[in-house]
Amino acid sequence: MVEIYRTPLTADLVKDKAREFGADIVGIADGAAMNENPPDPTDPRRPSDITDYDADRVIVIGQRVSLGATRIQSWSDRHKYVNDELTIAGLEEVALDLVRWLEKNGYPALIVPPTHVDPWRYDGDPRAHQKLPLSLDHAAVEAGLGTLGLNLQLLTPEYGPRVILTAILSSIPVEPDRRVEEPLCLGPDCGRCLSACPGDAIGHWDRDWIACDTHRQPHGFKQVTEFLDEVIDETDPEMQKRMLRNEKSFYIWASILRGAGAVTGCRRCQDVCPVGADYEALLKDALDAIPEDTPDKRARLDALRGAEAAGDRGPGYAARKRWIGS
Ligand code: SF4
Ligand code: SF4
Repeated sequence: MVEIYRTPLTADLVKDKAREFGADIVGIADGAAMNENPPDPTDPRRPSDITDYDADRVIVIGQRVSLGATRIQSWSDRHKYVNDELTIAGLEEVALDLVRWLEKNGYPALIVPPTHVDPWRYDGDPRAHQKLPLSLDHAAVEAGLGTLGLNLQLLTPEYGPRVILTAILSSIPVEPDRRVEEPLCLGPDCGRCLSACPGDAIGHWDRDWIACDTHRQPHGFKQVTEFLDEVIDETDPEMQKRMLRNEKSFYIWASILRGAGAVTGCRRCQDVCPVGADYEALLKDALDAIPEDTPDKRARLDALRGAEAAGDRGPGYAARKRWIGS
C-alpha cells in the first residue's frame, strides 16, 4: 500500500469512531500476540490464518444485549432469541461502517462476525461443536476489554458477559491495548452460571461445548439435520406430511428466517452473572433467584470450592490462565 493514500490514525481516533458508529465497547489487540498465543494450540485459529496482509491489529467491538430481554428468566424464550439476533444485526452495521471508514483512510479491513463458521473445517458431524475462525472472547481479552469467567465467557466491567462481539482485522499502525491481568470472575465462590445452566455444561474453568450448543443454538444445524433424518426415515406418507407442518418445522423455519434460535439461544449463564456495572442496578431484582439450582449442582460447586481452597484450580485454568487472569 502506498503511504500517500493513508491518513495517519491513532488508537483513540479509531475507538472514538467505533463508538460514534454505535459500539458500546471497543479495544484493539495486537495480531502478533494473538498469533503467538492461540487459545487452543492443537487447533490454532489465528488472525494470520485469515489474512496474510491485514491482521496486524484486531479491533474488537461489542454491543450490550437488551436489558429487557435479559430480565426474562426462561432460557428458551423466543423474545430473547429475537432481541439478540437484532443486536447482532446492529453490530454488523457498526462493523461495516468502521470497515468503510478505515478503508476510506487507506487501511484495508475485514470483519470476523460472531456467526461465521468456516465450511472448510466442517467434518461431516453435525453434532460437533463448530468454532469461529477466531475466538472473539479471547480476542476481547487480548484487546483489554475484560477476562474470561468460570465457563470461559467474556466478562466486561461495564456489562459483565452481556455483550455480543465482532472483530475487524486491519493493519493500522496504532498502539494496541493491554490485557487486563486482574480476573473479573468471582470463581466457584460465586458459581451462579453453573447453578443456572440448563445444559449442565459448566465445569472448572471449562465448558462442555456440545452440551451447551444444544441450548445455545436450539434450532441450529444439528437440530435441522436430526429433523430431516426423522422425516426421511418416516415410512407413513401421512405422518411425514404432518411432521413437515409440526412445531419443530415451524421453529426451524422461524430460526432460518432471522437466525433467532439458530445463531442465538440460551444465555442464562450471561444473564445471572453478577459481574458488570449493569447487574446490581438494573438486573438483580429480576435475576437474583435461580430456580434451576439443584442439590447436585450445589455439591459440584462445593467440590470446586474445596479444590480451589486446596490450591487446585484444575487443568482448565492452567490452560487458560492468560485469559482468565491471576
Ligand atoms: S449458554 Fe446456556 S447451556 Fe451454555 S453454558 Fe451458558 S447457561 Fe449453560
Ligand atoms: S456467574 Fe460468577 S462464576 Fe460465573 S462467570 Fe460470572 S462471576 Fe464467574
